[in-house]
Amino acid sequence: MGLEMKGACEKCQANVDLIAYICVHECTFCENCTNDMSNICPNCSGELVKRPKPAKYMCPMSWRK
Ligand SMILES: [Zn+2]
Ligand SMILES: [Zn+2]
Repeated sequence: MGLEMKGACEKCQANVDLIAYICVHECTFCENCTNDMSNICPNCSGELVKRPKPAKYMCPMSWRK
């Protein structure tokens, strides 16, 4: 298993394509669950932080020649 973009919350299986919170071990949770857990990962007790949007959502003008 390498690094991969997870598309579902580990707690409630909600889709997290747009807004996801991850810990340093890449446990992935949705916004609701993250708020419920006070931004603390239940797996590793690490802080959950908002994941940057995937590169595919960046403006195409920034890389297209
Ligand atoms: Zn959730
Ligand atoms: Zn974790």
